[in-house]
Amino acid sequence: MNACDKKKPFQCQKCGRGFTLKRNKDRHVNYECGHEPRFQCPYCGLRSKQTSPVYAHIRKKHPEEEVFIFDMKL
Ligand SMILES: [Zn+2]
Ligand SMILES: [Zn+2]
Repeated sequence: MNACDKKKPFQCQKCGRGFTLKRNKDRHVNYECGHEPRFQCPYCGLRSKQTSPVYAHIRKKHPEEEVFIFDMKL
């Protein structure tokens, strides 16, 4: 029971996820929902649909390594 959840008027028709901003919903529908994660950590294979979590992961988990992302280009 969280009243804050009601402030997300834009919903994805596929997965039902809610968004506060239309552009965030559009980005989700166009680039995230139903797409395989295309960005991969070159050191352990962790994958994400966005680059920033992978960059953060590499800095944290592989501090000795160069920070770059393997783009699967799906
Ligand atoms: Zn969705
Ligand atoms: Zn990794």
